[in-house]
Amino acid sequence: MDKEQGLQGDVRRRRVQRLKKMIVLFVLVWMLLPVGLSIVLFVRLGALNGQLAETQGYLRRVEETMARQEQDAGEEPETAQLDRKEVIVTAPVAGADGQDKDVTAVEPEAAHKVYLTFDDGPSKYTEEILDILDEYDVKATFFVLGKENEHSIEMIREIAERGHTLGMHSYSHKYADVYRSVDDFSADFYRIYAYILENTGIQSTCYRFPGGSSNTVSDLDMHVFADFLAEQEIEYYDWNLSSGDGGSVLLDVDTLVRNSTQDIEKHETSIILMHDAASRPTTVEALPQIIENILAMEDTVILPITEDTTPIHHIH
Ligand code: ZN
Repeated sequence: MDKEQGLQGDVRRRRVQRLKKMIVLFVLVWMLLPVGLSIVLFVRLGALNGQLAETQGYLRRVEETMARQEQDAGEEPETAQLDRKEVIVTAPVAGADGQDKDVTAVEPEAAHKVYLTFDDGPSKYTEEILDILDEYDVKATFFVLGKENEHSIEMIREIAERGHTLGMHSYSHKYADVYRSVDDFSADFYRIYAYILENTGIQSTCYRFPGGSSNTVSDLDMHVFADFLAEQEIEYYDWNLSSGDGGSVLLDVDTLVRNSTQDIEKHETSIILMHDAASRPTTVEALPQIIENILAMEDTVILPITEDTTPIHHIH
């Protein structure tokens, strides 16, 4: 009997000990859980604050540039606060002669309107591309990246001065950064917007998504970024004709010319995708032939993108 009672006592003691351990564990988990969560939230808050400060910095610089421009124009800066929407709606676009041009100017009538667009520049070929465009007296659209070196800045000024449209193609072109979240997209957007404004005085109103709006690199639904642009009253432009110069293989001149021009007569609006990039020499070589082929087409004009342009969207 004593032995049996002793055994029962052991079992009870072990049960009590196990119960104690579970209670301690339970209490620990409930104490540590909020602490852990707080740390995670704290770190996230820090990151968001960093992004906010960065965006505010760009906005401040945009604001300063605008105030300076207004002063240059002999006007009092109305307010220190930048109302971006208002700015964009009333923004004049610099014309061919560097003078302000009314953005509501109507595009010429033609059965086929063709827009040559160059992504990823400026590059070592920008000047050559500009010279070819000048030679044929046609205007194009450059969707540029935020390249801060002296040559690139000189080139984006040159693009604007020669009367072409300066569009935004993101600041970094790093898919993982640009498309991480709407906040990241917004921060990158303000950077490229400020970069163009600071260096040329132009408030760009058009955007091309890195990879296009139908890219498969973004984990998020591209509509959230398209909606963000719409809120900023920025139009985005995909393409319906591609020269094919964006692939891993360097295409020859004939192929580039054929890809760029063979379907123009099927469309009212043709937005042709090309690249202004150091790795794409054949695009520059093909450009004169591309332009000549288009100019030889009946009732067809080559135009720069303006707010009048019918956009091509890959997503709806
Ligand atoms: Zn690109």
